Amino acid sequence: MFRLACLPGDGIGQEVTTQALRVLAALKIKYNLDYTYRTGLIGGSAIDETGEPFPRETKELVAQSDAVFLGAVGGLKWDGPEKKVRPEQGLLAIRKELRLYANLRPVKCWPQLMEQAPFKKERIAEVDLLIVRELTGGAYFGARGTETIAGETRAFDTIAYSDKEIRRLVKIAFELARQRRKKVTSVDKANILDTSRLWRKIVLEEAVNYPDISLNHLYVDNCAMQLCLNPSQFDVLVTENTFGDILSDQASVLGGSLGMLPSASLGEGPALYEPVHGSAPDIAGQDLANPLAAILSVAMMLRLSWQQPEAAIAVERAVERVLNRGLRTADLWLPNYIRVGTSAMTDAVIAELS
Ligand code: NAD
Repeated sequence: MFRLACLPGDGIGQEVTTQALRVLAALKIKYNLDYTYRTGLIGGSAIDETGEPFPRETKELVAQSDAVFLGAVGGLKWDGPEKKVRPEQGLLAIRKELRLYANLRPVKCWPQLMEQAPFKKERIAEVDLLIVRELTGGAYFGARGTETIAGETRAFDTIAYSDKEIRRLVKIAFELARQRRKKVTSVDKANILDTSRLWRKIVLEEAVNYPDISLNHLYVDNCAMQLCLNPSQFDVLVTENTFGDILSDQASVLGGSLGMLPSASLGEGPALYEPVHGSAPDIAGQDLANPLAAILSVAMMLRLSWQQPEAAIAVERAVERVLNRGLRTADLWLPNYIRVGTSAMTDAVIAELS
């Protein structure tokens, strides 16, 4: 029995999680999916109920699960520099708790959505890349502080990586490249940073074990430029936490809308699946959210945690077919297309599945 922990979070996170669960339920009989799910609190809604963004009950729930599905956290209500407890702390805490060190973000250009992307068609038509980002190290987890000495205030954040942290991530990137077009691009800043020089050394050491994979290295600034100039050159991009955070948002534009981008975070225990987007307070509660990123995250879960590749493919094909039929949520809508809301888009995906 597969045990799924569902953490809807805040804003549209709650809406798209409901839709993701509907799709999973629709697959249950056909693909013989034997599962139970329990729901937990995270983010702002958890702060409201318990005072904590990642309460003890949720910690216990995820520890006893085989995979976690997360909606999104955050919202204006909990924002502001004066707030000591913030929803996003829940995200960092769950990543740390589950030791989710590898964040996978596939980005592809859906031919049906090319009109929406702010790039020339010929530049993005072939885009199909996977960013593998380190998620539990680097500047976001390093020593930090603010100090005032002799009237001058300084703040600092430190980047630190061990060879072990780099190696375990790089192995995942090479393994995933084997199932794709067999190319890895490692992104660093080895001309400046010591952590990047260690990064490059470990990548080169690991590459010896993957002679079938072609490898190249790019400095992060060049990579940012290449993602605009020639994004279809990339297959798997592997990089550290901060670089990956920035590059994956940049790459997300190639996919047409944030509402189309799924993600997975892998670690030593249960993996976590979530749409890339946030809680979108501007559209929450209006049936406007695009549920496809969440639904495609279900496909990633079926493939990576459930070993149900056929069910995953069925979901991806169903998404393709609803787009072919011209259905679009508000974020993707253009004249001549059929505008649908969050639930109607999911209804259409479910209809295609059956
Ligand atoms: P956001 O991703 O929530 O929204 C950015 C823009 O994209 C908004 O205009 C929104 O309406 C639109 N959008 C996002 N997802 C959409 C979808 N599925 N369908 C249609 N349109 C969609 O980012 P933001 O506005 O910078 O942040 C809002 C809140 O979400 C903040 O509190 C932020 O901290 C939080 N956040 C959480 C996560 C997460 O939980 N993983 C990620 C990013 C931001």
